[in-house]
Formats: sequence, C-alpha cells, structure tokens
Amino acid sequence: MIAIYPGSFDPITLGHLDLIERGSRLFDQVIVAVLSNPSKQPLFTVEQRLEQIRYSTQHLTNVEADSFQGLTVEYAKQRQAKVLLRGLRVLSDFEMELQMAHTNQTLWDGIETVFLATTKEYSFLSSSIVKEIARFGGKISHLVPENVARDIYLYYS
Ligand code: ADP
Repeated sequence: MIAIYPGSFDPITLGHLDLIERGSRLFDQVIVAVLSNPSKQPLFTVEQRLEQIRYSTQHLTNVEADSFQGLTVEYAKQRQAKVLLRGLRVLSDFEMELQMAHTNQTLWDGIETVFLATTKEYSFLSSSIVKEIARFGGKISHLVPENVARDIYLYYS
C-alpha cells in the first residue's frame, strides 16, 4: 500500500523524519509530498525542501520525495495512494487534523488518513520553532537533520 505524507516541510525536522521512518515500516511506499502553496512565504524553495528531504531519507529505500499543488486527494489519486499519513503532537493538532481528514474524505471516499503519534522527545518540535530559534542564533543541530542545519546556518549567516 502506498501512503502519502503531505506537508510544508519548511524545513524537514527530526520529528518529520521520525514519522517517515515509522511510516516506511508500515507501508510499501511512502511519498513525502511537499505542498507548494503560493500564498505562503516559505524559508526554503520547494526544490530546496525536496533536496533536504531526499538527502535525509536516502537510507530509506521505499521513501521518495515529490511536490504537488492543489488538492491532496487529487494528488493521491494520481499517485494511486489510498492513505494520507499525518502526525499528531499535541491536543491542538487534533482539531485541525480531524477537520482536514473529514474534508478529504468528503472529496474522495477512497482516502484514509492514518495518524501516527509523535515520539515523546519530538512532541514540541515544529518547523516554525526551528526557524524561530535559528533567527535568534540558537542551536538547532539537535532538532533537524545535519544537512538542514547546514542550510539554515548558511541562510542566517
Ligand atoms: P503542515 O503545514 O501541513 O502542517 P508540516 O510540515 O508542519 O505541514 O507538518 C506535516 C505533518 O507532520 C503534520 O501532520 C504534522 O502534524 C506532522 N508533524 C510535524 N512535526 C511533527 C513532530 N515533531 N512529530 C510528529 N509529527 C509531526
């Protein structure tokens, strides 16, 4: 079974990576799909984010990175994926995630959203937290893959 893990990944964190590794053990293939959202002002371009994801998931043979625009369910149909993989960290994630899962199901009843709970050590971790710390020169090497830490230091130096 093919699962799509959609998100902004601006940038990918160790929390995302943990979810990808666990997803790759559950599904035959995991497609990490970077949503290209023209109304957001990202730190990294879609191409940079794809490069960061590809580099940090190269040890996982059944994981690929791709980007898409528009509706996630349309992209899922196109990739013949019936599962959307999402992560749950804290209670506040739940409301948005449930709304999204229900919405997607009204758009295509062939889609299932599967939630994986974050591992305890990454429950606080988000891409925005990483950017916030980096902006003020704080240490982020314990929060993101090594290649991403390098990219961020370059960006802010
Ligand atoms: P989005 O803009 O779609 O929320 P993100 O890149 O922020 O994109 O997150 C993509 C998915 O990864 C979401 O389901 C989010 O809950 C999950 N996620 C993000 N950080 C973590 C983490 N530290 N542990 C588990 N899941 C996470």
